Amino acid sequence: MTNPGQLQHFINGHRVPGGDSRWGEIFNPASGQVTARVPLASAEITGKGVAAAAAALAEWSDTPPLRRARVLFKFRQLLEQHLDELAAIVTGEHGKVLDDARGEIIRGMEVVEFACGIPQLLKGEYSDQIGSGVDSWSLRQPVGVCAGITPFNFPVMVPMWMFPVALACGNTFILKPSERDPSASLFIADLLAQAGLPQGVFNVVHGDKEAVDALLTDARVAAVSFVGSTPIAEYIYATGTANGKRVQALGGAKNHMVVMPDADLEQAVDALIGAAYGSAGERCMAISVLVAVGAVGEQLVPALARRVHALKVGPGTDPGVEMGPLVTRQHLDKVRAYVDLGVAEGAVLLVDGRDLRLAAHDEGFFLGGCLFDRVSPTMRIYREEIFGPVLCVVHVADFEAAVALINAHEYGNGVAVFTRSGNVAREFVRRIEVGMVGVNVPIPVPMAFHSFGGWKRSLFGDHALHGPDGVHFYTRLKTATGRWPQDMASGASFVMPTH
Ligand code: NAD
Repeated sequence: MTNPGQLQHFINGHRVPGGDSRWGEIFNPASGQVTARVPLASAEITGKGVAAAAAALAEWSDTPPLRRARVLFKFRQLLEQHLDELAAIVTGEHGKVLDDARGEIIRGMEVVEFACGIPQLLKGEYSDQIGSGVDSWSLRQPVGVCAGITPFNFPVMVPMWMFPVALACGNTFILKPSERDPSASLFIADLLAQAGLPQGVFNVVHGDKEAVDALLTDARVAAVSFVGSTPIAEYIYATGTANGKRVQALGGAKNHMVVMPDADLEQAVDALIGAAYGSAGERCMAISVLVAVGAVGEQLVPALARRVHALKVGPGTDPGVEMGPLVTRQHLDKVRAYVDLGVAEGAVLLVDGRDLRLAAHDEGFFLGGCLFDRVSPTMRIYREEIFGPVLCVVHVADFEAAVALINAHEYGNGVAVFTRSGNVAREFVRRIEVGMVGVNVPIPVPMAFHSFGGWKRSLFGDHALHGPDGVHFYTRLKTATGRWPQDMASGASFVMPTH
């Protein structure tokens, strides 16, 4: 038995020790203690993962979709059985509260359920008699070896936005999870193996830039899916496409929630508390800007401030806790620095989470909820992604100003409008330049059978994740034209066929 504190890679169906790798530390964010070490793969180890996936490709891609789906059915069943164990792993390394960890696993399972329908999803089109005695049809074939590079904030759900669809389509996969909370990926690899997935079809290689660069430049990798911050997404897209790969790279966000004067304010406050402070704001679809229209802020902002003050912050394993710690000390420092910056920029800090003290957990990476009022669009706290429990309030005169504000932002991941007017809602959905829109729904994460993806600097590439776009990303379209003439010996033709 190897040291339980040292994680291993999962390559070709086996745990592979990190050996003389570089190592990263994994923390329990609630206690601040190091709980394990993760090997950071060299290009050589990463290449072994790619080799395993490449070797498994021919057989897996030739396996009938129905049989591939049956493995996923079994995997789904195992996920359900082990939901609480997996949620505990997520909370132990990410810090989010247990119910939220269960929620992310369930949202991931929905993608598995979607992928179980792959025989239907891969059905092509057929045109009879496109010319006399000639038919045409299309088929979707796997792209080959796929890589997924994922962020820390959803260590189960984001990988499951990718690999269930990729595998169902007949591809093999190498997952490079976040080095900050990588244990869930190994648990998933074990469940896939138990479900009967052949060796080499799914591999986990831990690491950082070195492993990522090895994946981006390896000619055997056909497609790369990335989710993370925008600067890295841009780099992944540029490098992957320059190396001839199909790439989808989802980046950062600054999600606005517009509250119109006719909205139900109680509902809006409830929605904002969950959407801005749930998972300590470490969600790519978290609301980080409240756009208060007209005079709505006069009642809304004080009501919100009271709720932010009352947030129950503590370890994600404690019952009744609403918000856990941030993921690492480094990230905590970064978010705190943004709060300092907001004060220096002249925004009004109505609730200061920097004051939070949790007696028994003073080594944990905790920050209380922060609420800034009177934020202006020129401030860095408005323009940049903070990715913590910090909500900025911007006041605008009317609906037009709200739409103009949001459309001018460089990010376009998620957005919401709260109103009782069908007409306002409809106009908003049509005119807003953002990929995912909620109407009285603060976090409009699409279900698995729709596709997830933002606009502008929140997504680089032509395809969103899962749903129909996911199937398109992980397959190549082929269109065939055929005829079976009675007399094959009619001779060669040198002119463009017309009908
Ligand atoms: P990150 O960009 O730091 O890391 C993401 C992945 O990239 C990790 O696997 C990491 O190991 C790798 N990576 C880091 N630096 C790299 C480098 N220099 N070269 C190559 N690879 C590198 O992101 P994070 O902090 O783990 O996650 C938070 C970010 O992810 C936020 O910006 C959030 O908005 C974004 N996110 C976006 C979505 C979305 O759907 N758009 C979803 C979840 C998270």
